[in-house]
Amino acid sequence: MSEKREHAEPSAGEGHLSLRADCESCFALCCVVPAFSASVDFAIDKKAGQACPNLRQDFRCGIHTRLRQQGFRGCTVYDCFGAGQKVSQVTFGGQDWRRSPQTAEQMFEVFPIMRDLHELLWYLTEALALRPARPLHGELRLALEQTERLTHDSPGALVELDVAAHRRDVNALLLRASELVRAEVRHKKKDRRGADLIGAKLKGADLRGANLRGAYLIGADLRGADLRMADLIGADFRGADLRGADLTESIFLIQSQLDAAKGDSATRLPPSLTRPAHW
Ligand code: SF4
Repeated sequence: MSEKREHAEPSAGEGHLSLRADCESCFALCCVVPAFSASVDFAIDKKAGQACPNLRQDFRCGIHTRLRQQGFRGCTVYDCFGAGQKVSQVTFGGQDWRRSPQTAEQMFEVFPIMRDLHELLWYLTEALALRPARPLHGELRLALEQTERLTHDSPGALVELDVAAHRRDVNALLLRASELVRAEVRHKKKDRRGADLIGAKLKGADLRGANLRGAYLIGADLRGADLRMADLIGADFRGADLRGADLTESIFLIQSQLDAAKGDSATRLPPSLTRPAHW
């Protein structure tokens, strides 16, 4: 169905450029702010706001090339959508939390809020590149501009922001965009929103236009499945087998979902995403 998508609007790939993490410009906020629990994803317990012991003084990871081998798979699937560099360089004007420890508490509070806002920017940018969602492009553009403006607020205003309410409003708009895209698939679409599909046997399944928002697909067998035009926002693909699956026109799929799954050279991807190195 790829021939059905026109590109009169900027492609999602172009708009997403500023939403890609630039770790060189970030004060390693993802290595400090979240808490870790020892598990298959993290080799250690770490409290929120405490620097990971592998973090070097220059804000680089001391085990960057060996994360998976050393039990830090969780670090390889994390995506801040460029929130780290925005907080470091824009919100806090390049003042880092080591040299300016008085900023640390507020900076660590702002980071997850900024990440939420940047994630919404990513989805809104993608929605604006979807031709079937064109009737909503005016509303989507407004939401994008409003969200972008919020990301430039002061640290104090960001901490006070009701980001959950903003997310709800944007999500309602994204859902309408999704419905317009999925309506292009003529056959009956599967509605598996939030479904428990852990370990499900979906090899070769026709999931075109399916609603898989927030579905639990952990360890699911999706080899050769057709997921074009399926809404995959928030779907949990940890350990899912996507070898040979077609994700080319799926919507709202993000890199961290792919990174958490298994795939191969035959897995077909949307153009804005890259094939994970471990596939
Ligand atoms: S292991 Fe490396 S990438 Fe992961 S949190 Fe620690 S310093 Fe950061």
